[in-house]
Amino acid sequence: MLAYLAFAAAAAAADLAGALLVATAHQKGLAPLRYFVAGGAGFMLAAAFVRMLPESVQVPHAFLVVLIGYFGVHLFEHTVAPHFHFGEEVHPEALLRPSAGYLALFGLGVHTLFDGVAIAAGFLIGPALGTLLFIAVLLHKVPEGFTIASIMLAGGQSRGAAIGAGALLGVLTLAGAVATSFLAGHHVPYALALSAGVTIYVAASDLIPEVNREGGPALGWTVFAGLVLFALADWLVSPLGAR
Ligand SMILES: [Zn+2]
Ligand SMILES: [Zn+2]
Repeated sequence: MLAYLAFAAAAAAADLAGALLVATAHQKGLAPLRYFVAGGAGFMLAAAFVRMLPESVQVPHAFLVVLIGYFGVHLFEHTVAPHFHFGEEVHPEALLRPSAGYLALFGLGVHTLFDGVAIAAGFLIGPALGTLLFIAVLLHKVPEGFTIASIMLAGGQSRGAAIGAGALLGVLTLAGAVATSFLAGHHVPYALALSAGVTIYVAASDLIPEVNREGGPALGWTVFAGLVLFALADWLVSPLGAR
């Protein structure tokens, strides 16, 4: 029972790992992370459109809930937080006020809460969906921890604060999974619809713009590699049963 909390904990650990990379490793060694951003975007969009949305439509107003999830992330990451984007933070001038870094942490924290909701809701519907959503979340988790630690350091915070911010994102991921485990069964599709909207926003509006900004055909093709990886994973988990 609640074995999926172990998957949420593994995803949470990846947030911390991303933050530790920034705070301890040489920045040059972090270039491969961009391929996880690109591959993760492809995988997440495929999981959202092919598996999460069809599973959500069994409840009324499912697509309204998806829309709320989508714009909820926009609200917290890009209006409440004055400056936020995925990847290395290279605009310290945008983080002169200490509140800017903490508001970015808050905005990203709301999104990470729903990373946990997605994993738990997936497993509550069935092991196949749960496994796919765990992979979808895991692929962007190390870059996510990297992002928040980079923001904290650019804002003049200590390495300890940067690592702590990554750890906090992990705790929020776990909290989202635990909160979802208390939902009544008939509410689970709503949690899935909400986290589908979050997943679509994170992939299409946070990750893809980073891929396009960085540019280069190799990175662009990696998005399609994410789609291929999804197709492969979807085929591999099919023996687990849809529900
Ligand atoms: Zn920036
Ligand atoms: Zn996330």
